[in-house]
Amino acid sequence: MPSYLADYHTHTHLSGDSKSQLLENLNAACQAGIPELCMTEHWNLLNQRGERLPTHYDFDAVLNQWAALKDDWAHRVEVRVGIELGNSTVDTAAVQACLNFPELDFVIGSLHSVSLDLGGIGIFTYAKSCTDPQRANAVLEDYIRQMEELVEVGTFDVLGHIIYPLRYFSPDFHLTLDPWQDRLDEILRRVIHSGKGIELNTTQGTTVRQWLPLLTRYRELGGEILTLGSDAHRPQFIGAGFQEAAQMLQHLGYRYVCTYRQRKPQFHSIR
Ligand SMILES: [Zn+2]
Ligand SMILES: [Zn+2]
Repeated sequence: MPSYLADYHTHTHLSGDSKSQLLENLNAACQAGIPELCMTEHWNLLNQRGERLPTHYDFDAVLNQWAALKDDWAHRVEVRVGIELGNSTVDTAAVQACLNFPELDFVIGSLHSVSLDLGGIGIFTYAKSCTDPQRANAVLEDYIRQMEELVEVGTFDVLGHIIYPLRYFSPDFHLTLDPWQDRLDEILRRVIHSGKGIELNTTQGTTVRQWLPLLTRYRELGGEILTLGSDAHRPQFIGAGFQEAAQMLQHLGYRYVCTYRQRKPQFHSIR
């Protein structure tokens, strides 16, 4: 039997930056042999310009989309309700008050923006106009500090795309997270200690190898709770890079990948 490689980071048109329909994602999952996907729409507390966004999220549209398809698809692709929270530490209390309902299986904690101290603008936007490696490193420092704050309050099940800023800065800067390794180790220890996890986010299949140092370290520190996510914003990227990711995880000594039910990890062997 093949490994159970569920896609736990997917977007539909309910995220502002995707046009996908859930039905298209389910068809794509079926074709790619993905047995389960979790809808993780964006709920960002800051936009790319650094403006604050609502601290309340109305899950009705997500739940309606899910309810309309889940039963028909149950024997082909299981579909679950999640959310990708962006910069939730802007208002942790308000966010937590919205997450208390039984259909919610999974929460990704992401940081898409620099802190309000640095203006709150999107890391993507910041990186595009950044011509100075020193400023890039200041963003990384700020990013690590925000992640420390996030693991402190714990408003997530897995930390989203930890290597996110490295996606967008110029490759000429040769940025790595190495200068923050000690603090990153402590972040990973806290994640492990609190029974939470991290995700291997393939960025639509393009960044699997970039995860090698971080996943090596997470395993060395005893990390086991890990989800796989394509971050597909288009149907054709559902499950992208998962075979390569599974091979890498096996090579590093991981025995499981996780799905979630009502915020609790479920372990599936990687074979
Ligand atoms: Zn994200
Ligand atoms: Zn995402």
